Amino acid sequence: MKMESTLKEYFGFSTFRPYQKEIIEKILEGKDSLVVMATGSGKSLCYQVPPLIANKTAIVISPLISLMQDQVMALKQRGIKAEHLSTAQTNTSAQKNAESGQYDILYMTPEKACFVPNSFWSSLLKTGICLLAVDEAHCISEWGHDFRVEYKQLYKLRDVLKNVPFVGLTATATEKVRKDIIDSLKMKDPHIAVGSFDRKNLYYGVKSINRGPSFVDELVAQISKYVANGGSTIVYCTTVKDVQEITKSLCGAGLKAGMYHGQMANKAREESHRSFIRDEVDVMVATIAFGMGIDKPDIRHVIHYGCPKSLESYYQESGRCGRDGIASDCWLYFSRGDFGKVEFYCGEASSAIQKNAIRDSFMAAQRYCMQTTCRRKTLLEYFGETYASSKCGNCDNCTNSKEESDMSREAFLLMGCIQACGGYWGLNLPIDVLRGSRAKKITENQFDNLPFHGLGKDFSVNWWKTLGFQLISFGYLVETVKDTYRTVSVSPEGAKFLRSCRPDHQPPLLLPITS
Ligand code: ADP
Ligand code: ZN
Repeated sequence: MKMESTLKEYFGFSTFRPYQKEIIEKILEGKDSLVVMATGSGKSLCYQVPPLIANKTAIVISPLISLMQDQVMALKQRGIKAEHLSTAQTNTSAQKNAESGQYDILYMTPEKACFVPNSFWSSLLKTGICLLAVDEAHCISEWGHDFRVEYKQLYKLRDVLKNVPFVGLTATATEKVRKDIIDSLKMKDPHIAVGSFDRKNLYYGVKSINRGPSFVDELVAQISKYVANGGSTIVYCTTVKDVQEITKSLCGAGLKAGMYHGQMANKAREESHRSFIRDEVDVMVATIAFGMGIDKPDIRHVIHYGCPKSLESYYQESGRCGRDGIASDCWLYFSRGDFGKVEFYCGEASSAIQKNAIRDSFMAAQRYCMQTTCRRKTLLEYFGETYASSKCGNCDNCTNSKEESDMSREAFLLMGCIQACGGYWGLNLPIDVLRGSRAKKITENQFDNLPFHGLGKDFSVNWWKTLGFQLISFGYLVETVKDTYRTVSVSPEGAKFLRSCRPDHQPPLLLPITS
């Protein structure tokens, strides 16, 4: 009863949402907890209620100062004593107050929490700490999409705060990341609460595009329509250059658009963030630097211009729309050139493990782009959730279904021809061979003598190319980029397929029919 009355008194809600009560109870029992729930499901309440009941301070580790400031302000308005501490602060009175247990909720950056002297913790322990929450806990994991070195140091607090329950909270965690959070925070037999990731009000759509001015015009027209209906939009770009170009086009069309990227000064970024939150601009064009902690409930559209680097980041970024539960759209526009970015992303890796993780994550995102089955099912299953139905009815593939058909023969021809040509050409040459070309490059290399020569006349060059891209995304072919030259060769998986292929009893290779 105390829990419900506290919820009502401070937050004005009459009932707990799924999982909240059970999580709060476990924390009050002193149990470590891992909370994995979708954005907007109400994770914050899980660490905000216990201090009010136990009358002890809750420590909350959070990665961004702006996010902490927003939360502190909102809590103060509810009559909850809250403050934040970071290494940037010069004001020592807040730290003194904190030390003597004057706050219900104390936000700290990970650096601050790790560098504050032990005497701080020992005096605070005397008045009581009811929990240590690590928000955005996936930042701890190198497997996660937003690894932060400072988070890795948090385990040090475990020895200082021996009997304090640790609570990790995140909206995106695959099995691997979950395990990493538990290990990194040295959690003891934690209570694990995994909520559903299904954001039913979000529509997921994906389209293959050709980059260029005509697509940008299309995009501007689409966004204008959204804005006319009164919805905020975020456009995520993969490069700063794209951010600048799209912003320019949107502003040129008379729309109120702001931009946000890592090359802007801090002040300009904060200003941009604020103008979006306050509805002074309708569209925010940004790199993925924009977003953590955007608590704007009425974003109606999130558009990705370019294939995202992982499904974790796609889910999180697209998940910023429709927090208020109203139907909202997530559109992803990719071009084939995006898929060549993998080595660029790998450049950010500091270890071979991380490099592999980045590559795997990017492949999953590519497959998501190319798939013809329900996108929601794929997203949910990627996060380990079972989705019983094969169709959600609220993604592009469910609303306009493309059929899959057996492409074994065609895949055999293309892969076999690529192998026969030596595997050090791009896609074009083997396709020309299949289509029976006698161009100089082909006759010089005597590829016109190959048994494959001319066997693929029935389909256009573009048809074969699309098949090639699909085989790349499914891992049967690998594309290697050297300088600017791409070569395509058969992967071990593809070689296995070729070996197992007999004209009469081959395993069917199901791929969408291509145009
Ligand atoms: P998350 O951190 O999981 O993204 P938040 O904690 O920001 O989600 O909560 C999302 C929204 O849901 C907030 O506006 C919050 O006030 C609201 N909310 C949380 N718990 C409840 C509840 N029990 N009843 C009604 N609204 C709630
Ligand atoms: Zn679907």
